[in-house]
Amino acid sequence: MRLKDKVAIITGGARGIGKETALVFVREGAKVVLGDFDAAAGEVAVQEIRSLGGEALFFPVNVSDPVQVRAMVDGAVENFGRVDILVNNAGITRDAFLAKMTPEQWEQVIAVNLTGVFNCTRAVAPVMIGQGSGRILNAASVVGLYGNVGQTNYAATKAGVIGMTRSWAKELGRKGITVNAVAPGFIITDMTAKVPEKVLDMMKEKTPLSRLGQPRDVANAYLFLASDEAAYINGVVLSVDGGLVL
Ligand code: NAD
Repeated sequence: MRLKDKVAIITGGARGIGKETALVFVREGAKVVLGDFDAAAGEVAVQEIRSLGGEALFFPVNVSDPVQVRAMVDGAVENFGRVDILVNNAGITRDAFLAKMTPEQWEQVIAVNLTGVFNCTRAVAPVMIGQGSGRILNAASVVGLYGNVGQTNYAATKAGVIGMTRSWAKELGRKGITVNAVAPGFIITDMTAKVPEKVLDMMKEKTPLSRLGQPRDVANAYLFLASDEAAYINGVVLSVDGGLVL
């Protein structure tokens, strides 16, 4: 029970890495608030957690809208009294080669992956400052560290998330709040479901551990960073990529 009675908000918690993180957190004693764009999938995730005896709430939210984000954070505090952990996990891709990337594709990814992380952290930080404690965990990516062909927008946002993580680690550390990022490699979720078999094989080959990542691999990293064991870790970017060399 490494997160006994902790309250965690997990954005993009309806599926993939976010949902797996919620399941792992609940198993460790946390109460979870899932915020997601997809209300149907979010309700299914909450029912699944409750059927396992966990406490969970769902809020339909577009993280790029600060008003909806505020309602989610207020709802978490009203229902559970505090927010100990924020996992800024919601993210999207809109891939295209540079010359073909539309301004809409650029803006959409910035709005969710970058502005969304800003909105959620900005709304939660005062609650954590009031408590004198908190953990903020951000979804970066190996693409934010090394770049990738066809992912100008995504790479920019994930590099931005790393910049925000390090800035907030400095700014909020003095208030008892740690801020860290996780940089997953290639993880099998809906986000990567359409990747052709040939590319999957190539990714496996480039990964020293010779397998693709599972949502649980990333969820376990979030669990560690949210736990008491990570109390003195602040401002790091933890790669969870099997040693992937991009
Ligand atoms: P996913 O597509 O399986 O799930 C993402 C969830 O976020 C979905 O439930 C979706 O509805 C939700 N979401 C999307 N836009 C939203 C918005 N505007 N507001 C609220 N919710 C929104 O993705 P995943 O693979 O689980 O990825 C989770 C995070 O991990 C993302 O930030 C992603 O960039 C990052 N990541 C994933 C991989 C990978 O290989 N899967 C690698 C590196 C980083």
